[in-house]
Amino acid sequence: MLILDGKIVAQKKRLQIAQEIKDLQKKSLRPPGLGVILIGDDPASEVYVRNKILACAEVGIVSMEHRLPAQASQKEVANLIDQLNCENSVDGILLQLPLPAHLSSTELIRLIDPKKDVDGLTVENLGLFFSGQPRVVPCTPLGIIEILKHFQIEIAGKHAVVVGRSSTVGKPMALLLVQEQATVTLCHSKTPDLTPFTRDADIVVVAAGRAEFLNQKYFKAKTTIIDVGIHRKTNPYGKTQLVGDVDFTNVAPVVKAITPVPGGVGPMTIAMLLANTLQLYKLRQTL
Ligand code: NAP
Repeated sequence: MLILDGKIVAQKKRLQIAQEIKDLQKKSLRPPGLGVILIGDDPASEVYVRNKILACAEVGIVSMEHRLPAQASQKEVANLIDQLNCENSVDGILLQLPLPAHLSSTELIRLIDPKKDVDGLTVENLGLFFSGQPRVVPCTPLGIIEILKHFQIEIAGKHAVVVGRSSTVGKPMALLLVQEQATVTLCHSKTPDLTPFTRDADIVVVAAGRAEFLNQKYFKAKTTIIDVGIHRKTNPYGKTQLVGDVDFTNVAPVVKAITPVPGGVGPMTIAMLLANTLQLYKLRQTL
């Protein structure tokens, strides 16, 4: 069994990005900028935003953090997005999800200038992606394809099963795998039984948001598993640990390859956020 270490792939990507940004500085060009919007005080979002900001600093992207209180109105967030849309030094706008329940993420994402939509979630960018001419692609699925390619896991002609159909992970993942010539099955909570699909699959991407819910019975020895889930759990020693949607200890010994949690998909999501920021910067420079 092979452990697909996302940290290694992410580090390689970050070094490439850092080098490109150094080259920009040599030409006296301004560095790329990322505007980050964090609303409320969800502890997991705090950690994600902190890690993203640290990663930006490491490669030379200027990040600007904008915090609003949990009770901020739709109008206040909309005004902030407008402000960042107009700011020349901002190439990418990241609206950290999930938002407090009273805010509409669909409406707010719609307000982001598609040329600054670093997560690739606006209607325009999803349309470009769907039609095979992507401007930017959602970070997590894009990072997963990079992991598979880095470890030379064949995708073309293989059966890939995606568990979960969110707009940020499951659906774009299925589309990317199709574009990579896989035959794709997309499962969700109304799929009566996952086993016939996951047991037939060469690649399974699990993004269901259910802690350790898939065990050995779902997989065969030929399968590569990409575990997107992130959950906090208290272990028997009273320490908090991160786990995925797959029961790693139970499953890892019996499959071909698997991403760990932490250290699998998470670092690649951040690396692709940096890559997308640089990509949007370059596209804006050529306007
Ligand atoms: P989400 O929006 O909650 O979507 C979950 C999807 O899983 C839904 O489509 C749901 O089906 C499906 N589902 C739920 N229970 C299921 C079951 N028992 N069997 C089959 N499908 C089931 O979640 P998300 O935003 O895609 O995130 C999924 C997980 O990945 C979360 O743990 C999240 O924290 C994590 N995540 C990690 C990263 C990273 O960088 N590592 C990035 C993003 C997300 P329905 O559509 O029918 O409800």
